Amino acid sequence: MIKIAVTDLEYDKAENVFLNAEGVECFRVPSGESELARHICEKRVRYVVVGVDKYTGALYDALPEGGVIARFGVGYDGIDVERAAGRGILCCNTPAALDDSVAECALALILAAARELTLCAADLKNKRWQSRVGRELSGSTLAVIGCGRIGTKVACAAKNGFGMRVVGQDIRDIEDVEIFDEFTTDFAVAVGKADFVSLHVPENPSTKNLINAESLKLIPEDAVLINTSRGGPVDENALYDAVAEGSLAGAALDVFKNEPYEPLDPARDLRTLERIITTPHIGSSTAEACTRMAETALTNIKWAANGEVAKMNLVPELQGIIP
Ligand code: NAD
Repeated sequence: MIKIAVTDLEYDKAENVFLNAEGVECFRVPSGESELARHICEKRVRYVVVGVDKYTGALYDALPEGGVIARFGVGYDGIDVERAAGRGILCCNTPAALDDSVAECALALILAAARELTLCAADLKNKRWQSRVGRELSGSTLAVIGCGRIGTKVACAAKNGFGMRVVGQDIRDIEDVEIFDEFTTDFAVAVGKADFVSLHVPENPSTKNLINAESLKLIPEDAVLINTSRGGPVDENALYDAVAEGSLAGAALDVFKNEPYEPLDPARDLRTLERIITTPHIGSSTAEACTRMAETALTNIKWAANGEVAKMNLVPELQGIIP
């Protein structure tokens, strides 16, 4: 029987899968790194399924060579891949399992911002019957920054479902360019005429504060920024200032630099601005995506245990390196 430690939040999101999976025995363990490492050592576990938490030290010493860190999700910015690889630990994720859920979340945030849904709902809860004038998505322009799996899904749904004009931007040339009304590698061109700007880039050193005081000036004043990617790409203080002073119409954010959310500057708390919608990193939190992520993570681990490493969804840095 393959023993697998699964961090508590992830276990709870797909308990049925972890309880009933064949050929494996899954343990629910704390996600905090020192506690997680202690459980791994005590239970002599080689394989672990983790969420978005950042792991910087003890985890890599606790797992043996040939062990696996399986991300329940796609972004692996919380894992030190170099350190893991140095210890002979494999890192994998669950690409495609959550694309629809995150894309639908981005569209929900676009719609919520366009029709001021959170403000309307708050009005009525406060017994205020007040009509707010929103705007239509049809005919408006969406800039999709990062045209990978999720960005492409958002583009398709926005164009074919809502009649939006979609401009895609990426740092590389992409294959499915016909999905977009226009494709560019130039950020300024992509956002220059946008009504909505939706971020779908990975968090890494090159995307750190991609949205900052300077790049915000390139986005039209009446546009809304949507972020369902990661907190790293947005300078939250600069975004706060832009929305507070009216040089950006608003924002809808599912991800933050500090999670659970803590403002970088207590005087610039994004939650205090009514033009900013905030959600607690729920992009992939649907029953369907959680089931698929759990199944994919377990399948990856079974492949590793059977020596079928070539079949695994290894993170890009390890692809082609591990024989
Ligand atoms: P992906 O790897 O398929 O696509 C990312 C794209 O971004 C690639 O095409 C890449 O070339 C491009 N890119 C990289 N740097 C860029 C830059 N500086 N400017 C423009 N484009 C750039 O990734 P994906 O699966 O589509 O995931 C996208 C993001 O969504 C990731 O940050 C991931 O962590 C995040 N995500 C969030 C949630 C959530 O719950 N909110 C869930 C899953 C994934």
